[in-house]
Amino acid sequence: TSIPDLLAASQTAFSFEFFPPKDDAAEEVLWDSIRRVEAVQPAFISVTYGAGGTTRDRTVRVTSRIEHETSLRTMAHLTCVGSSVAELREVLRAYAGAGIRNVLALRGDPAGGLGQPWTPHPEGLDHAEDLVRLVAESEEFTVGVAAFPDKHPESPSLEHDAEVLVRKADAGASFAITQMVTDVDAYLRLRDLVAASGRAIPIVPGLMPVTAHGQLQRMTALNGQPLAREVIERIEAVKDDKDAVRREGIDIATEHAQRLIDEGAPGVHFITMNRSTATVEVWERLRG
Ligand code: FAD
Repeated sequence: TSIPDLLAASQTAFSFEFFPPKDDAAEEVLWDSIRRVEAVQPAFISVTYGAGGTTRDRTVRVTSRIEHETSLRTMAHLTCVGSSVAELREVLRAYAGAGIRNVLALRGDPAGGLGQPWTPHPEGLDHAEDLVRLVAESEEFTVGVAAFPDKHPESPSLEHDAEVLVRKADAGASFAITQMVTDVDAYLRLRDLVAASGRAIPIVPGLMPVTAHGQLQRMTALNGQPLAREVIERIEAVKDDKDAVRREGIDIATEHAQRLIDEGAPGVHFITMNRSTATVEVWERLRG
């Protein structure tokens, strides 16, 4: 069964996101998390892609190992950052050779970091939409793309983001995954804008439970946007008690996930930061 088919099924498709570990110790933490996630039989797991050649090799290696050593369906992320079209084709050949059949096609953030101007590689691609076309060319992959309920930092409006999403669907993407949702209404606004355009594409909300007070700032940086006021206030209210912060973070994520599911979201994509305990706890609570 393909990811789009799983998303079209009546049951919510749960998925989990990991990043390639930097060293042996981090790899052990990752595998511990992978095994925990494997036990809940998610629809798929995904592995992110960083800038530069070394993380590229790590994404291929880790995704390939998960594909071969576990029962999990995998999706590898891919970005246009710093690569020519020929290099992107090479990565796709490596993905295909490793048995990876699902790719999340992204532009990537500007090499200088969020807020810096985006400059494409001289022989590369300018928009995710172009990468979707390149990945879809080979017919070996299903293609997913990114979506931004809080508006992409470089975008003039949410309407523009909805148009971009429709263009990516027209280019061959069959599903989208959002940045971490901290305001469920924002997700619903984007989903309804896309639906109103008459172009249906399943949009899976990304979720990440807050597990420590210090994470609030890191999550804001990761999202490129301020988190929802409700989330900040609820975490701030218990910030002096570590256990209470974790409990509150898991409560918030569970409530958000439940509302998203009730509103008809096709799945929930958990961002694990390679430590899956909190996300699996949310999953267990949703299962009742
Ligand atoms: P695009 O769709 O190209 O959009 C980028 C900007 O250009 C937007 O402002 C958009 O409005 C505008 N735009 C797009 N197409 C057009 C057009 N035709 N005409 C005019 N304007 C246009 N980054 C990583 O480096 N590695 C990862 O593994 C990774 N995983 C991610 C997973 C998810 C679920 C999400 C939501 C993001 C992820 N990112 C990752 C971050 C992502 O690469 C950045 O947010 C990036 O800035 C935007 O990527 P995109 O694919 O949405 O780009």
